[in-house]
Amino acid sequence: MDLKTLIRDIPDFPKPGIMFRDITTLLQNPEGLRQTIDTMVDRCTDLSVDYVIGIESRGFMFGTPLAYQLGVGFVPVRKPGKLPAAVHSMEYDLEYGTDRLEIHQDALPPSSRVLIVDDLIATGGTAAATAKLVEQSGSHLVGFGFIIELTLLEGRKNLPDVPIITLVEY
Ligand code: AMP
Repeated sequence: MDLKTLIRDIPDFPKPGIMFRDITTLLQNPEGLRQTIDTMVDRCTDLSVDYVIGIESRGFMFGTPLAYQLGVGFVPVRKPGKLPAAVHSMEYDLEYGTDRLEIHQDALPPSSRVLIVDDLIATGGTAAATAKLVEQSGSHLVGFGFIIELTLLEGRKNLPDVPIITLVEY
């Protein structure tokens, strides 16, 4: 099945000029959901991952079933103020202004092998900030997994030199 046919394009969302790639239509399709997770599992198995990190919030939807199938733990990276225990925090630049992501300080054992997952890579800023959180945690980043890559934005140039797995390109 061509997963791209299950991703819905919404022009001018959330603001004019943005073509939003909507993965809710992929998630709601049983075969599409299964193929997405199974393909990610196949392509991540060789990385010997100990933990999958999902980036709030669409990274949770793909990261958790991936971790389950790989037989490893799942760790959420969240927007500020959501995690209850002590956190590492990382600020990153948006088009206008800045944002911040957080991870529990005790979530990743030192030297554990970590895979970062999100639904989509655009500029790579979100994933790069998450990679810095992994570094702060003393863990070992072994790869990134994205369902969608917006190749024209060349976001992978902003990421550390580890394998980057993507399933659908625009
Ligand atoms: P970036 O940090 O620029 O790589 O942006 C990645 C984050 O923004 C991901 O969490 C995506 O879910 C979201 N995002 C950016 N651009 C789009 C888009 N065109 N359609 C859907 N989500 C997007």
